[in-house]
Amino acid sequence: IDPILAIIGRPNVGKSTLVNRILGRREAVVEDVPGVTRDRVSYPAEWNNRRFTLVDTGGWEHDAKGIHASVAEQAEIAVSMADAVLFVVDSTVGATATDEAVMRMLRKSKKPVLLVANKVDDFAQESDAAVLWGLGFGQPHAVSAMHGRGVADLLDAAMDVL
Ligand code: GDP
Ligand code: MG
Repeated sequence: IDPILAIIGRPNVGKSTLVNRILGRREAVVEDVPGVTRDRVSYPAEWNNRRFTLVDTGGWEHDAKGIHASVAEQAEIAVSMADAVLFVVDSTVGATATDEAVMRMLRKSKKPVLLVANKVDDFAQESDAAVLWGLGFGQPHAVSAMHGRGVADLLDAAMDVL
């Protein structure tokens, strides 16, 4: 059975765009409106001749507990099934309270986590990614899911922990 790589993060950070980039085709639904991915969705993927299962997450609505608790709870289910996690943050926004809620849950899970600073579309935005060292998951992997920048290096690093 293939190892599971889960993609976690609050709505609109670019998780589904990253899934499509990794798959090399548009399969996950990307929307400008937060919360479009309806559920956890699994895709067979491959990198450097290694097969793995990619799990996209999202689609959680605001509920009685509020968005922070809701995101963290949905993410927790995906993480519990995962062998490693890509934690995606929007580098143009920085770490929000929701990101910090997810960060605490990930730390408790003890799973290997790679921090992905997405939307680093060009070199000038690298410094936005560096700020995310503060989340405590080591070096942020600066990528542009939209343009593909940095994604190969990210996948190389992911294969090392999967
Ligand atoms: P999700 O809710 O985390 O799955 O986010 P989506 O993949 O649906 O993307 C949310 C929005 O961010 C969409 O408008 C995407 O086009 C945009 N987006 C995703 N990745 C990037 C990126 O690398 N750079 C920029 N500039 N926009 C991105
Ligand atoms: Mg999505």
